[in-house]
Amino acid sequence: MYIDSHAHLFNEDFANDLNDVLHRARDAGIDCIVVPGTDNKTSREALELAEQHEFIYACVGFHPHDAMKLTDGLLAEIETMSDHPKVVAIGEIGLDYHYDFSPRDRQIAVFREQIWLAIRKNLPIVVHTRESLNDTFEVVEQCMLDQPHWRSGEGVALKAGNSGRGVFHCFTGTASEAAHLFNRGFFVSYPGIVTFKNSPVTDTLRQIGCENILLETDSPYMAPVPLRGKRNEPAHIAYIGKKISEFLGLSEAEIARVTSLNARKLFSLGDLRHM
Ligand SMILES: [Zn+2]
Ligand SMILES: [Zn+2]
Repeated sequence: MYIDSHAHLFNEDFANDLNDVLHRARDAGIDCIVVPGTDNKTSREALELAEQHEFIYACVGFHPHDAMKLTDGLLAEIETMSDHPKVVAIGEIGLDYHYDFSPRDRQIAVFREQIWLAIRKNLPIVVHTRESLNDTFEVVEQCMLDQPHWRSGEGVALKAGNSGRGVFHCFTGTASEAAHLFNRGFFVSYPGIVTFKNSPVTDTLRQIGCENILLETDSPYMAPVPLRGKRNEPAHIAYIGKKISEFLGLSEAEIARVTSLNARKLFSLGDLRHM
């Protein structure tokens, strides 16, 4: 049983066949789908999906691409939405220096505001970072220095593998960068990029194993091989799990079990005692 920890099932891409997409996800053995918002409109859509479907959970947040457009009013609405019981994280938030759609200082300010929001609500964060890993680390770390008890349970430092502050999604960093995150209570997650030829993440995965990773499709983007270029959907997650099981020499069932448990821990999905 898999969990798709990051799928944008918004109207724009799925309006015509969402029910078929969700049936295929169920048939493919997907237990839960986490839908992150990217602005107020899509955060609202994510929340509506979570209200309509028991196995869907939402994140609310403002993507760095649109950081320029975030106003105090919009942020207040995100804060209100975050109180909904099916909102499991603030996201996706972060920094994107590849596209630089918003000025970097604005991206940083908006990222920081939303981490503070997550800290106030004691929620984890879903982080998007592209060509910006150092600044992303720095912003996160500053916020954690201010609030060391954020989601750390009893006020003690989190142990790697038992963490809950957030996930760096679509992670393309090195094994040592990943270890840095694990030690600070973060997971990393992998989409279809693991199936690409000469994938940049293969070496990292072999070194870090599966103990601190989540799986995601990043639908509708990042379709795995052999579906590359097509619209992606949650049912395709098994291509990712299978590939990682080959890299690590573990069964696909074991990859599904560990990564689903990690997603359940991070997002507090379902009842952990039965896992
Ligand atoms: Zn992203
Ligand atoms: Zn995303």
